[in-house]
Amino acid sequence: MNKGELMDYKIIPIDSIKKIALVAHDNKKDDLLQWAKFNRDLLANHQLYATGTTGKMLSKALDLPVTCLQSGPLGGDMQIGAHIAEGVIDFLIFFWDPLEMMPHDPDVKALLRMAVVWNVPIACNRSSADFMISSNLMDCPYERMVPDYDRYRQRRRK
Ligand code: PGA
Repeated sequence: MNKGELMDYKIIPIDSIKKIALVAHDNKKDDLLQWAKFNRDLLANHQLYATGTTGKMLSKALDLPVTCLQSGPLGGDMQIGAHIAEGVIDFLIFFWDPLEMMPHDPDVKALLRMAVVWNVPIACNRSSADFMISSNLMDCPYERMVPDYDRYRQRRRK
């Protein structure tokens, strides 16, 4: 696409039952746990996914089913990113740690990037998560507008 051309969009629906991925780095796990316990009844209306350690912790504390992927540093962030690209996950709560270097920093960036590429709602701290979970949109279908990447796919290399 040339500069100045308007981008077309496609609608990818988000169902009223959201497929929510939850991830917390180690120093943020208590924060996420407190937040999730407080919002347990709201979360119970949705399908939950998480990286390995976060997921085990959440399913025990909330007594809710959580699909646990690999632990983050072992590929869990990348699995969530892949699920976003496939349309399996459409909502992300990601409490990443801004004060620690992570061995899987490239995966963290890749996950954040996938959420933006696919216009998936994302909360990276408690106040954003509070605003998102209390939104009226949580209980309705939502038309997610995603740039029409067909032109990008069909582009020819010079
Ligand atoms: P964990 O992974 O839930 O397995 O701790 C989180 C992360 O570090 O991305």
